[in-house]
Amino acid sequence: MNIAVIGTGYVGLVTGTCLAETGNNVICVDIDIEKVVKMKAGVVPIYEPHLDILFQRNIKQGRLKFTTHLEEAVENSKIIFLALPTPPGEDGSADLSYILGVAEQLGKIISEYKVIVDKSTVPVGTAELVSKTILQSMSKISSPSGKSGGVLFDVVSNPEFLREGFAVDDFMKPDRVVIGTSSEKAKKLITDLYKPFVRQGNPILFMDERSAELTKYAANSFLATKISFMNEIANLCELLGANVDAVRMGIGSDDRIGKRFLFPGIGYGGSCFPKDVQALAKSASDNNYDFKILKSVMEVNETQKTSIVPKIKTYFKNDLKGKKIAIWGLAFKPDTDDIREAPALYIIEELLKLGATISAYDPEAMANVRKLLGDKIEFATDQYEALKNADALLIATEWAVFRTPDFTRVSALLKNKTIFDGRNLYDLSEMKELGYYYCSVGRELVK
Ligand code: NAD
Repeated sequence: MNIAVIGTGYVGLVTGTCLAETGNNVICVDIDIEKVVKMKAGVVPIYEPHLDILFQRNIKQGRLKFTTHLEEAVENSKIIFLALPTPPGEDGSADLSYILGVAEQLGKIISEYKVIVDKSTVPVGTAELVSKTILQSMSKISSPSGKSGGVLFDVVSNPEFLREGFAVDDFMKPDRVVIGTSSEKAKKLITDLYKPFVRQGNPILFMDERSAELTKYAANSFLATKISFMNEIANLCELLGANVDAVRMGIGSDDRIGKRFLFPGIGYGGSCFPKDVQALAKSASDNNYDFKILKSVMEVNETQKTSIVPKIKTYFKNDLKGKKIAIWGLAFKPDTDDIREAPALYIIEELLKLGATISAYDPEAMANVRKLLGDKIEFATDQYEALKNADALLIATEWAVFRTPDFTRVSALLKNKTIFDGRNLYDLSEMKELGYYYCSVGRELVK
C-alpha cells in the first residue's frame, strides 16, 4: 500500500518506518527542511532505540522516502497519516492549528479516495472538524459535489500509544490498536494495514471516532494519575517513617492494581502527559464538567517536579551560592533525547536562581538542552566528569548507566559524599555502608 505520513517527529518517523518494514511504500513529509535533508542522507534525527536499523533497511530497499512537498506525498498515497504536533494552547486546550492547517491543504490536493488517519492526540470532535475543514477547502476550488463519484475521503481516529524509548517495539507489537471510524471502507483498509502487527492476537478495537479520541486522553490521564498518586504516597512515607519501596511492592502485587507505573520520583514530564492531562481537564471544563481528580493530578505534579530542591536547600543550610551540583540525567525519561517538560529542567532553573552552578551529563539529551540553555550550565563528556569538584550529585533520570556506578570513583570525585536521588536508584543499606548522605523519594534519609 502507498502511504504518506505527515509530520516526521517521534510518532511520525516511527510510524512511517514500521509501516515500511511490513512492505508498504511510505513517504514521510515534514516542513522542517533541515530534518528532511538529514533523513534523506540516512541520518535518524531523533534518538529512539532500534529505529536506526529499520530506518536504514527500508531506505535502502526504496520503501521509505522523505519530502517537504505535501502534494507529492499525498497524490500517490491511499492512506495519509497525520502525526502532527498538538501542543498546549495558552488556555491549556490542544492547539489544532497544525492539524487543521494540513487539513485545509489536503482539501486542495485530494482528487481521489483517501483515508486520512489521525495519529496525533486530539480532543473529541477533531475527526469531524478535520472532515469539515477538508470539505470547506475542497468547496473553495470546486463544488463539494467533487464527491460525485462517492465520498472522496474518510477521516479515521487512530490514537498512538507508543512510549518513547520503546517506540519501535510498541509499534511493531502494540498491546492494542484503536480504530475510530464509521466507514466500512476505511475500516477494511486500516485493518489490512495493521494485520501484520497483531499476529499474536492483540486486539484491533473498533469504535466511533469520538470514543477513540477520548481513549487516548483517558489512557494518559490514568497513567499520570497513578504517578501522582504514588508521589503523594511517597511524600507521606517520608512524614510517617515508612518505606515507599515496600508499600509499592505491597500494593503492586495485587492484580487489580498492577506493578507498573508505581515508582515515585520527581514527577512526570515529556511531550504527552503534561499536555494531555491539561487538555482533558480543559475539555471537561468547556463542557461544564469539573474533573476534580485531574486538577489534583496536575497540582501534585507541579509541586513534585521541584520537590527535591527544598531537600537540597536544607542540606546546604539555605545557601547554595557557589555550590556546584552535578546532575545525572536531563531527558524526561531514559532511552530518549526528548527534554520536553523534563523535570530536570525545572530543577536546574530553581538551582540556578539560588546561585548554584550545574555540571550535567545525559547519554542522549545534552544537545537538546544545550540548544535551550547554552552556557548557563556545564555539559560533561561522561557521568564521572560531571562529578569533578561537585558539592553533591542529583539524579534526575533513571538511565541504566546510572544504576550501578563505580562508587569508589564517585566518592573520590565528589567534594562531599552527597547524593539527591529523584529516581530511587540505590539501596539504602548500600548507601549507609558507603557512608553517603543519601536523600531519595519516600524513603528514610541516610546520613
Ligand atoms: P514532534 O514534535 O516530535 O513531531 C512533529 C513533527 O511535525 C515535527 O517534525 C514538525 O516539524 C512536523 N510538522 C509540523 N507542522 C507540519 C506540517 N504542516 N507539515 C508537515 N510536518 C509538520 O511530535 P510527536 O512527539 O511525534 O507527537 C505528534 C503527535 O502524536 C502529538 O499529538 C502527540 O501528542 C502524539 N503522541 C506523541 C507520543 C510521543 O511519545 N511523542 C506518543 C503518542 C502520541
